[in-house]
Amino acid sequence: MTNSLKGYFSKHKGDAPADVKEFKIKVLIGKGSFGKVFLVQRNNQVYAMKTIRKDLLLEKTLIEHCLLEKEVLMNTDHPFMVNMEYVFQTENRIFFIMRFVRGGELYRHLRAEKQFSEKRAKFYVMQVALAIGHLHSMNVVYRDLKPENILMDSDGYIRLTDFGLSKSLERSEDAYTFCGTPQYLAPEILAKKGHNKPVDWWTLGILTYELIVGFTPFYCGGDT
Ligand code: ADP
Ligand code: MG
Repeated sequence: MTNSLKGYFSKHKGDAPADVKEFKIKVLIGKGSFGKVFLVQRNNQVYAMKTIRKDLLLEKTLIEHCLLEKEVLMNTDHPFMVNMEYVFQTENRIFFIMRFVRGGELYRHLRAEKQFSEKRAKFYVMQVALAIGHLHSMNVVYRDLKPENILMDSDGYIRLTDFGLSKSLERSEDAYTFCGTPQYLAPEILAKKGHNKPVDWWTLGILTYELIVGFTPFYCGGDT
């Protein structure tokens, strides 16, 4: 399957990059559970490039599922979601080339300012709700809503990142447990009884509380 999908996921006809090597790595901007995120450049245009190590994905079918889900997301252009521009793969890695969102994680802004006014929190929560609603309309359950996955754009509006993958990858559920951030999880996820779209609305409630108060409602003083 290596390289068999090359170019297939490009939505830009004509100027489509033929190889991921055309994107020059500038700097490391983030670390994900399955690989690193870099700032990259091609033809004077910068992007964020998320690399995903295939050996960390459990099964080949999951890789394909993940790529197909990305295809759905590539065809949507939502003002509050990070746009996927291109997808590539090599033998060992998958590369998502996305819009680079300049303002950093909402998490960082929240930690710096401790808490936001209700008016400001409302401004962000409203945008997240529209993005979640849009994902649900495509039958994608986001599942991973937290301030780290909400990025601030240069115009002050937010962009949701890291979408889709968590739904396809069972491993993420374990990741939740092991990386110790259970504060955002809906009870049905913790109970492992199966869950669906409502989990995202639960998490939006947790997020709303956190933005206004400065910590999550089920925080109990530990270092999780
Ligand atoms: P993971 O799935 O492992 O959580 P993410 O997609 O959340 O990985 O990426 C990890 C981090 O990289 C994010 O929290 C963010 O700081 C940074 N990042 C991801 N995508 C972008 C982007 N499009 N623009 C700017 N920074 C990004
Ligand atoms: Mg993330």
